[in-house]
Amino acid sequence: MAEESKLLKLPEKWHRALAVAAHPDDLEYGTASAIARWTSQGKEVFYLIVTKGEAGIDSIKPEETARLRVQEEISSARAVGVDTVEFLDYKDGVVEYGLPLRRDIARVIRRHRPDVIINGNYEMTWGGGSFNMADHRSVGIAALDAARDAGNRWIFPELLEEGYEPWDGVKMIFISHPPKSTHAVDVTDSIERGVASLREHKVYIDNLSQNFDPEEYLRWGAAETGERAGCEYAVAFGLLEL
Ligand SMILES: [Zn+2]
Repeated sequence: MAEESKLLKLPEKWHRALAVAAHPDDLEYGTASAIARWTSQGKEVFYLIVTKGEAGIDSIKPEETARLRVQEEISSARAVGVDTVEFLDYKDGVVEYGLPLRRDIARVIRRHRPDVIINGNYEMTWGGGSFNMADHRSVGIAALDAARDAGNRWIFPELLEEGYEPWDGVKMIFISHPPKSTHAVDVTDSIERGVASLREHKVYIDNLSQNFDPEEYLRWGAAETGERAGCEYAVAFGLLEL
């Protein structure tokens, strides 16, 4: 591996986080190991999943896939101490960045009043030549903007009419799997629960590949990040402050 810089510790002085993702399973490729650590510290984490991932399995019809993947995501969340999983029901694969999406995410932020948004990678690539998906880009940027929209009384006045007062308490946005990470979370004691959460996506993973081993995959990535973070296993993040 090329010489890469040391990672700083991601701040942990916060109480409540909302994790926003495009698809069921996005949070389970590493982020959930950090979430398991945070819930065991007594922090509250909620999930907001924008689609039901219904276009994710070629051999199963979308309605059936949606049903399966919603169940798998709820089980995954439970494995890391998260009881609340909400779905926005946007169409998988064709999510568009725009005002409706910003408003729908802002509504959930106002309802849960988090200190932190856990967001996905919204850049064009994962770093190197690997191209990011359209849904991840649309949802990631909308979640950033919604964090700010949620705090402004005059943006989306219809939310006020629905009874959602502004919430300007989001102070940090954690970016999972950014092309260039700067921070990390030590997951040495929680990676086992992270692995358990990825294993819950059984039908999806079986259809993706017969040879994918969640434990091997997650421990390999976390060991590499751990070297840069000064611990056995770690998960990397980017950090934005509002
Ligand atoms: Zn995804």
